Amino acid sequence: MARSDIFHTDFQAKPFWWEAYQPTIAKAIDVPHTARVAVIGGGYAGLCAAIELHKLGLDAVVLEAAEPGFGASTRNGGMVSGGTSVGKRYTGANSKEELERLYADASDSFTLIEQIIAENRIDCEWTRSGRFGGAWARKHYLQMAKKLGPLNDYADSDAYMLPKERQRDEIASDYYHGGMVAKRAAHLHPAKYYKGLLDIATARGIAICGKAPVTRIAQVGAKWHVETGRGTVEAGDVIIATNGYTGDVTPNLKRRVVPVGSYLIATEQMPEDLACSLMPHNRSIYDTRRVLTYYRMSGDRRRLIFGGRAKFSLSDPLDTAPILYQQMLDRFPQLAGTKITHAWTGNVAFTFDEVPHMGRMDGLHYALGCNGSGVAMMTYLGTQLARKIAGAANYACAFDRAEFPGHPLYNGDPKWLLPVIGPYFRARDWLDRTLG
Ligand SMILES: Cc1cc2nc3c(=O)[nH]c(=O)nc-3n(C[C@H](O)[C@H](O)[C@H](O)COP(=O)(O)OP(=O)(O)OC[C@H]3O[C@@H](n4cnc5c(N)ncnc54)[C@H](O)[C@@H]3O)c2cc1C
Repeated sequence: MARSDIFHTDFQAKPFWWEAYQPTIAKAIDVPHTARVAVIGGGYAGLCAAIELHKLGLDAVVLEAAEPGFGASTRNGGMVSGGTSVGKRYTGANSKEELERLYADASDSFTLIEQIIAENRIDCEWTRSGRFGGAWARKHYLQMAKKLGPLNDYADSDAYMLPKERQRDEIASDYYHGGMVAKRAAHLHPAKYYKGLLDIATARGIAICGKAPVTRIAQVGAKWHVETGRGTVEAGDVIIATNGYTGDVTPNLKRRVVPVGSYLIATEQMPEDLACSLMPHNRSIYDTRRVLTYYRMSGDRRRLIFGGRAKFSLSDPLDTAPILYQQMLDRFPQLAGTKITHAWTGNVAFTFDEVPHMGRMDGLHYALGCNGSGVAMMTYLGTQLARKIAGAANYACAFDRAEFPGHPLYNGDPKWLLPVIGPYFRARDWLDRTLG
């Protein structure tokens, strides 16, 4: 298919969400000389940490390398589950009890984001319509079924299995081998949610300093000197909230998170009957492929927002759009001829135990490693970290773990790792689909 056949004449290589809120610096805020806490990274985690600290009486400054919201927080698919995609593995859990605690906290992350949106009346198209996980292979359906009990018992997922014969109740496609419906899930407009948090922080007088890349962090006595391109902050504590954009300023953390590109396209507005027929309950969809795809309708229910790991290495969204488009047609052949108006990318951060982490390393606090599912989770970890620093946490968060593993063969540079992992995952996907 020629590229020109799939791109709309109004096509833009930028997030569809930026039509509503594009990260910008309306007013350059000076970097203050002192703050009780310096937060590095101005995404959901950074903003939520700063807001919670402020509520608890501690002043924080947010230092963001680019425009506030430049990172994944205005680029994502806006699919919200209990912080973990239903079906993720959490291989790092050492015991059944630990797994239960992780699920319970992931469930709390959903409660928290819903509460933040409701209490602050954030207008972000919050739609609590559930999600459907499509089984890519027959055996994936059985594997999903085994997770049903724990998900319902510990993560309040309100989930049930849907066999292939009834799949068309959920999706106008025969592509999957049945799947799982989780009713306690939602979707939102990620950039409007971000803007809502930004407005809360700004109204509280929190300094959100854009274009203030942190270049060095040094401990001087009991204080931290956080150097940015626009001045130095002296702070009592430092939070690293850089997720898939973690860099050389924190080398020990950099080698514990693997940045992976995730890619999205948005279609043009479709005729209403076609658009509403695709997912009759307006749920979000993901599948169990290792090289996963995920999709949902836009807030007005007229466009399909379709995403996936089209490529593992960090690539131009113009190159990945045709791959996503073909994946979309594989699931919905009825969309042939529908054009793409937007294509974009952003970084997620994977960890070696597949668990998101908060904690402290080299004296620095961190909330990192969304593993691709961080709208609720990074909101939650930022908030939990703030409570911990303020001494206001009334229990130990399950994601605050003693161990944050790296890998002996990974030095923080994904250039060699991703080209190896991509074909390996694709081969395993192919085997699963072919053999069973
Ligand atoms: C394409 C895509 C689709 C996704 N879809 C979903 C989804 O549907 N559902 C879901 O739950 N999750 C999804 N995610 C994941 C989710 O978006 C992230 O987990 C979440 O936004 C991470 O928030 P954060 O605050 O931790 O990091 P980010 O929002 O990425 O912010 C980190 C910030 O740190 C800044 N930074 C880095 N280094 C420095 C420095 N030295 N100095 C100052 N600032 C620095 C960066 O500029 C960046 O703005 C998706 C992600 C992507 C990219």
